[in-house]
Amino acid sequence: MRLIVLGTSCSNPTVERNLTAIALQFEGNWFLFDCPEGTQRQMMKSGVSYMRVHSIFLSHFHADHVLGLPGLIATMAMHERDLPLYVYGPKGTKKEIEKIMDLALMRKNFEIRVKEVGRGKVCEGEKYEIDSFPLKHGVPCLGYVFKEKDKKGTFQREKALKLGIPEGPLWSRLQKGEKVKVKGKAFKPEQVMDYSKGRKGKKVSTLTQ
Ligand SMILES: [Zn+2]
Repeated sequence: MRLIVLGTSCSNPTVERNLTAIALQFEGNWFLFDCPEGTQRQMMKSGVSYMRVHSIFLSHFHADHVLGLPGLIATMAMHERDLPLYVYGPKGTKKEIEKIMDLALMRKNFEIRVKEVGRGKVCEGEKYEIDSFPLKHGVPCLGYVFKEKDKKGTFQREKALKLGIPEGPLWSRLQKGEKVKVKGKAFKPEQVMDYSKGRKGKKVSTLTQ
C-alpha cells in the first residue's frame, strides 16, 4: 500500500500547495479521494498514473473537492481509456456527474459507473474493502475507510499435496478456514496453513471537508 497526499491546502491553492486530495495505491491500482482543481497535475508530478485510477471517492460536491474531475476525465478520454471508472459519493452524486459530463463537449469513450453511498460498505476487492460514513458539513458529506483485509497466513501447497488434497476448490476452502474431506478423510486448515505468516490489514481513513 502506498499513500500520496496530492494537496493539503484546503480550499485555496497556493504556489507551493494544491487543494486537498489523496491518492492510495494498492495492488497496482490507484484509488483517489476527492478530485479538486489541479489534481491531475499533482498526480503527474508525484508519479500517480491517472490511467490506472480504478475508483474515485468523493466526499461532497463543494467546488474545492470536485472541480478537477472534468479535466481528469477529459485527459483519460483523450488517452483512449477503455476501462470503466467507478465514482462513489453521497446522495446527489449521479446528477452532479451527469452535469460534469455535459460540460465542454466531453468525449464519452469509457463508462463511468456512479454509485451513491451512505454508511457502510462501498465496495470490495479480493484483498480490500472500502467503507463510508457520514460527516457533518451542511451538505451531504462522507468520510471513507480503506481497509486491507487481514492476511490469515500462508497456504503450504507442498503439505497439501503430500496429504493428498488435490489442487482446486478444496484449497481455497482450507484457506478460508474450513475443514474439508478427501475420500472420507477429514483435514483441518491448520494442517496446511502457516498462521505465523498472518498479519492484521492496514487501514486508512479520509476526512476531507
Ligand atoms: Zn466543503
